[in-house]
Amino acid sequence: AAKDAGKNAFRLFAESMEQNLQDRLRLEDELRKALITGENLFVFYQPIVNTRTDSITAREALMRWYSRELGWVSPTVFIPVAEQSGLIERLSQFVLHRACRDAMRWPDGARVAVNISAAQLGLGTLGDMIATTLESSGLPATRLEIEVTEAALVDDESRVMEELYQLRATGVHIALDDFGTGYSSLSHIHRFPFDKIKIDGSFVRDSTTRPDYAAMVRTIADIGHRLGVTTVAEGVETQAHLETIRAEGCQEMQGYVYARPAPEPHDRDTVDRLNAQAAKPAA
Ligand code: C2E
Ligand code: MG
Ligand code: MG
Ligand code: MG
Repeated sequence: AAKDAGKNAFRLFAESMEQNLQDRLRLEDELRKALITGENLFVFYQPIVNTRTDSITAREALMRWYSRELGWVSPTVFIPVAEQSGLIERLSQFVLHRACRDAMRWPDGARVAVNISAAQLGLGTLGDMIATTLESSGLPATRLEIEVTEAALVDDESRVMEELYQLRATGVHIALDDFGTGYSSLSHIHRFPFDKIKIDGSFVRDSTTRPDYAAMVRTIADIGHRLGVTTVAEGVETQAHLETIRAEGCQEMQGYVYARPAPEPHDRDTVDRLNAQAAKPAA
């Protein structure tokens, strides 16, 4: 009986693998089509705010996708698919172009922060892509910020480092995203040319109830301060979070307590219409 159960378990596993593969291929197919036409692909923006002055220093570009077949698909689902299927370069191009164009219209002159996946950084084509996009949009390099995670730094370290130093030399700002998760290392902070460290939301969330988390936030903020690197608390959802991260010395913050990611005015009607026909609204 145990053997039969084992066989059954294997069969179920194999079936679900096949199902997952089919889902993935369908998703990939849909995403490829969307990237060609640009249909129902949006870039939402979420403000990043100075904790003392409340002024907006930057807005993070966050991709949103409504698939006719699948409804709203989270970037945590479709970004990995894009990375694995060779679509990431086209996707980065799309977001960069939109982000620079949209930022040109912002009267407050805030920077725009664009997420760059580790897979894109490894290709070695980012510098040219950014230079071309800045030129065609007219956005000054100093108004663009890219966000990279530490996963991007471990692969081909010296090449990625060179690429980032070259970008930094053109005036583009560089932020280390999701700090405190995964491969976090202090050496990354001082060996790579970061202007900004974004402390992962998981630390922020627990900092109000757990002194050890608050201590970590304080320590990262201190290190940033001493090295001249701006620290940003991510995922600041409540007034209590905000008070804590302010007390622990974070210079900037980003989170639902201030604003959720939102579409630009020219996309609002389309997004409302899609939300009305979808089960899950885009957040
Ligand atoms: P991320 O770069 O760390 O972006 C921050 C995420 O936290 C966003 O999720 C944002 O909506 C969410 N967030 C903001 N404030 C709060 C808050 O107060 N509480 C909570 N619980 N969450 C908050 P989102 O938009 O779902 O994006 C998820 C991830 O997908 C991003 O994490 C980023 O890694 C990736 N991503 C999104 N857009 C792009 C893109 O255009 N290119 C690439 N390569 N990756 C992207
Ligand atoms: Mg980010
Ligand atoms: Mg982050
Ligand atoms: Mg993240």
